[in-house]
Amino acid sequence: MITFGQFKDVVTTSKLSAGGISEPSLDEKYIRHFNKWLTSGYHAEMEWMKRTRDDRLDIQKRFPWVKSILVLLDNYFSDPISAKNGIKISRYVMGQDYHSVLEEKMSSVLLGLKNIDGKINGKIYVDTGPFLEKAYAEQASLGWIGKSGMFIGTGIGSYCFIGMLLLSIDIQPSGVAINRCGSCMFCIDQCPAGAIIEPGLIDSNRCISYMTIEKKGNFSDAERARLDKWVYGCDVCQEVCPWNRKWSKLTPDSRYMDRKNQIQKYIELGNTGNIDKFTMVFKNTAIERLKFKRMQRNMNTALQ
Ligand code: SF4
Ligand code: SF4
Repeated sequence: MITFGQFKDVVTTSKLSAGGISEPSLDEKYIRHFNKWLTSGYHAEMEWMKRTRDDRLDIQKRFPWVKSILVLLDNYFSDPISAKNGIKISRYVMGQDYHSVLEEKMSSVLLGLKNIDGKINGKIYVDTGPFLEKAYAEQASLGWIGKSGMFIGTGIGSYCFIGMLLLSIDIQPSGVAINRCGSCMFCIDQCPAGAIIEPGLIDSNRCISYMTIEKKGNFSDAERARLDKWVYGCDVCQEVCPWNRKWSKLTPDSRYMDRKNQIQKYIELGNTGNIDKFTMVFKNTAIERLKFKRMQRNMNTALQ
């Protein structure tokens, strides 16, 4: 049996920003919220969200052996690029692909736990499993889901990646999170696309982050007008959040920002129309998954 103290020591050694434990089952409020989001059509073209609905809402359906979930946060905050042509790009893709960086750190956590108890079975997920990660992070009392729909880590802010480690052992859940949004409305009022329909409910059809990353095909005139020079993601609802102003600190892991200069130069060049250049600049970054054609579409729109 692993104690909460042993688990905390393992997380600290891994150099991740924070870790907490959640039960595998989700509170009814997350289930209601997700169903409302889907039935309102706010998932836009992300049909896989609908297809994996049952798995998302009941983790034990697919992983019956899971007894607890270790949720891990890692701070990726850095200053934004400041391209001369005003083109903007989200902070979270300024370095090496976060999936592999976070997976590497989480592997050391799993190894640390296995060193204490060799019988533990564990499975690592970084953004790739059918889970409501933010709900689990809140259940693990690591922070709260803000009105922006972003997860805000207590003492960290929202510029953090969330990883999930499914575990075959019982560890006492961490406690209850406190939502500190209060009467603040900054993210809702300042979202350039009017995508935050009500607190925590985001219409992907309008959200710049969705449009630049997930949307297939061309933009309509109305969509083009909303993009506000973002070519990958959008950080506005995070930039205006007072908790980020208070808590955000430069990430200690330089791998999350080591491509910044290269990316800024690419952005400033404007659209080169050169697939080899795209491949060279974005190799092993999260942007590589966007593919050249979509980046070209986004750059063309931003430069209009
Ligand atoms: S990411 Fe941008 S467009 Fe989407 S909700 Fe936040 S501020 Fe609005
Ligand atoms: S900007 Fe205000 S309302 Fe929005 S997430 Fe931050 S604290 Fe909450």
